[in-house]
Amino acid sequence: MTLFEKIAAREIPADILAEGTDWIAFRDIAPQAPVHFLVVPKRCIPRVGEIGAHDTQLLGNLLVAAASTARQEGLAVDGYRIVINNGPNGGETVPHLHLHVLGGRPMNWPPG
Ligand code: AMP
Repeated sequence: MTLFEKIAAREIPADILAEGTDWIAFRDIAPQAPVHFLVVPKRCIPRVGEIGAHDTQLLGNLLVAAASTARQEGLAVDGYRIVINNGPNGGETVPHLHLHVLGGRPMNWPPG
């Protein structure tokens, strides 16, 4: 099982914000912004580079979950950033697809 599968199964503690049938949202353990949470599919896809057409509905659900959890966290008015790191150069460290949602401060562009 991946780290995030263990969090979804409640085998590892996390600050869970919201959950759906095929996704879970919890706070990042090392936040990079005042609000920083992850939206993770319960079924492990290692990274966005490995998604296929059969994942379309799940991926849509992840985006809807990111937006609804961002609203719940009070980010809707000022905005926020959604990031997906893909592979080594993308900065991915946990090989289980996840959306970072960061808010509560202005974001820089381009990212470093
Ligand atoms: P990435 O570098 O894109 O793969 O992001 C992985 C993220 O998972 C990092 O931001 C970590 O801080 C976060 N992370 C690692 N372990 C945990 C954990 N046990 N609970 C919550 N977030 C975690």
